[in-house]
Amino acid sequence: MKDKNEKICIIGAGPAGLSAGMYLEKKGYFNYQILERNDHVGGKCNSPRFNGRRYEMGAIMGVPSYYAVHDVEEFAGITHNGPKLNRNYKNAKGDIIDPFNPKKNPLKIPQLLKMKSQVKRLGQLLETKYKGYDVNGHRGVAEGRYDGYAVTPGREKVSGVNENLKDLCLPFDEFCKRNGVDLIKDIWIGPFTAFGYGYFDEIPAAYVLKYLDFQTTMNFVKVNLWTWQDGTQSIWEALNDKLKNHARLNSDITKVERKDGKVYVTVNGAVEEYDDVIITAPLQYMPTYFDATDEEKELFSKIDYERYDVLAFTTRPGDHPEISYYIFDNMTPETYGHLMVYYRRWHDDKSQMLTTYAIRNHQGKPEIPYEKCKEMVLDDLKTMHNPADKIHNEHSWYYFPHVDSETYASGWYDKVEGMQGQKNTYYAGEVMAFGDMDEVAEYSRELVDRFF
Ligand SMILES: Cc1cc2nc3c(=O)[nH]c(=O)nc-3n(C[C@H](O)[C@H](O)[C@H](O)COP(=O)(O)OP(=O)(O)OC[C@H]3O[C@@H](n4cnc5c(N)ncnc54)[C@H](O)[C@@H]3O)c2cc1C
Repeated sequence: MKDKNEKICIIGAGPAGLSAGMYLEKKGYFNYQILERNDHVGGKCNSPRFNGRRYEMGAIMGVPSYYAVHDVEEFAGITHNGPKLNRNYKNAKGDIIDPFNPKKNPLKIPQLLKMKSQVKRLGQLLETKYKGYDVNGHRGVAEGRYDGYAVTPGREKVSGVNENLKDLCLPFDEFCKRNGVDLIKDIWIGPFTAFGYGYFDEIPAAYVLKYLDFQTTMNFVKVNLWTWQDGTQSIWEALNDKLKNHARLNSDITKVERKDGKVYVTVNGAVEEYDDVIITAPLQYMPTYFDATDEEKELFSKIDYERYDVLAFTTRPGDHPEISYYIFDNMTPETYGHLMVYYRRWHDDKSQMLTTYAIRNHQGKPEIPYEKCKEMVLDDLKTMHNPADKIHNEHSWYYFPHVDSETYASGWYDKVEGMQGQKNTYYAGEVMAFGDMDEVAEYSRELVDRFF
């Protein structure tokens, strides 16, 4: 336990940084300052305005197992009151398909039944063979241990030894093959690959299953989802308003020096002194403005990320889709760069914004240039019979920072976790947990609990 008057600098006012502030306050620490580079809070929860409403350029939804986001809602006095989400599926030719409906796919009935039994089997394996798989964060996994908070309503601390957890270092494809549950990937792929988190032949199973734990996946299947009327950014705006110390916007940090037990942060040209620093900004770029140690430089150079592109557009009224669509055929490594999802947020207004999503990188393959990918997506929209009339906004995100299977298995997380607190520095945010609102907020909760 630290002195409650410690002066704590939090870098970044996205979900990770703002929730770190909230959990610090809950423990009685009020001497913190959140420094944000942008002129707004929310990070990748980004909800611009159009025709009197807000659309989503970043995060869209949550599920009832988003317990840390629920903490934020309670603290900030808000709730998930947004438009109901609904979706359908198309193939690459633009035909509507209903891939999981046995009545529509009589020839696929044996396969669908097999898939159902594999989903059940995976659920059982996760509870038994992979007990502890779903604790937040990645501490111990590569060594066959778990240590963190259980993803249950009680959210109590759990720890233990489980050699089988080492399998989570494998790419998800291999993990499924090893456990004879290959067919379940058709269920997991929508909220994983289509949501920009990469392809199953490259991403370690730990990332897939910690985010899409069994309960969360079933919520996606049942479309039991949360949205927010004023967008996900409004969650973090409300939290920022409620915090004792609001994030300081437009903070340009040019240098961070750690010496004599203090942290000296140069912000907009002036040096500020702190006792501790919590970094929620991308760790990959931390060595560009910190006095990084060789170990920090070496470890953070291993981080990779997805190039996930979002386009916001309007259509002519006759071209407006009646629902959001997932394009199954485009979620394969061979079709990277193609449109995987397009999202219709507002059901009652055909003049409102729609958004498209595509990944334009895959391990070992050339990155597709931004403009080329945009062209592919716009062509795909025509094939889907919902061509864009006008593009209003576009962004290529630094998305889902992660390490590859080999680096994961070599104990990357245990090395980084072993550095927590050294040089008065704490590491949080996406790469430490997973790239979604709840995992990063949950990680901040645990970090505060462990060290403050
Ligand atoms: C298109 C898209 C769709 C998504 N969909 C969902 C979804 O449906 N559900 C879900 O839960 N999640 C979703 N996510 C992911 C979710 O938005 C992120 O995982 C979450 O915002 C991560 O929070 P964070 O605070 O760790 O990082 P970020 O949100 O990236 O915030 C980091 C903050 O740090 C600031 N910063 C960076 N560098 C510096 C610096 N040097 N100095 C000061 N400040 C700095 C940034 O400006 C930013 O505000 C989506 C994201 C995108 C882009």
